[in-house]
Amino acid sequence: MISAQTLEFHHGKHLQGYVDNLNKLLPGSPFEILPLEEIVKRADGGMFNNAGQILNHNLYFTQFSPAPAELNPNSPLAKQIVKQWGSVDAFKEEFVAKGVSLFGSGWVWLSAQEDGTLVITQEPGANNPVAKGLKPLLTFDVWEHAYYLDYQNRRAAHLAELWKIVDWKVVEERYQ
Ligand code: MN
Repeated sequence: MISAQTLEFHHGKHLQGYVDNLNKLLPGSPFEILPLEEIVKRADGGMFNNAGQILNHNLYFTQFSPAPAELNPNSPLAKQIVKQWGSVDAFKEEFVAKGVSLFGSGWVWLSAQEDGTLVITQEPGANNPVAKGLKPLLTFDVWEHAYYLDYQNRRAAHLAELWKIVDWKVVEERYQ
């Protein structure tokens, strides 16, 4: 299971660290007035890394719930998943496999292209699919800080467990 301690450290320490860092970098910079997504698209160096990690974690934490909704099989998202992967289970399998095979730290994403087609991408470090013109829908964080307290080196076991807290209503809404 995903422990409260893991989520407390992840949200309260790791994400907070990125927020504190960005708040130190922003004042007086040309990025100060920009929305987070625009900073991610335009910045580099520490500005990019911290803004990217805040955007990534915002999408990550808000897709979970202690009382998560299941994927509605009649939703446009579910229909598109089945159309492309054959079944929701086959999609989940590929999503986890791409999270497991991502070398080092990063994120695996489900995103939508402009025509509604879905795509799974591996994004290293602080990267976010918005930089590729994609609309991010669902993500699993594969940085070790996301799972080390509960699962140590067993990234695959952690990712398999994450499905239990994904609130599909949120993901469906992002697809609309
Ligand atoms: Mn993280």
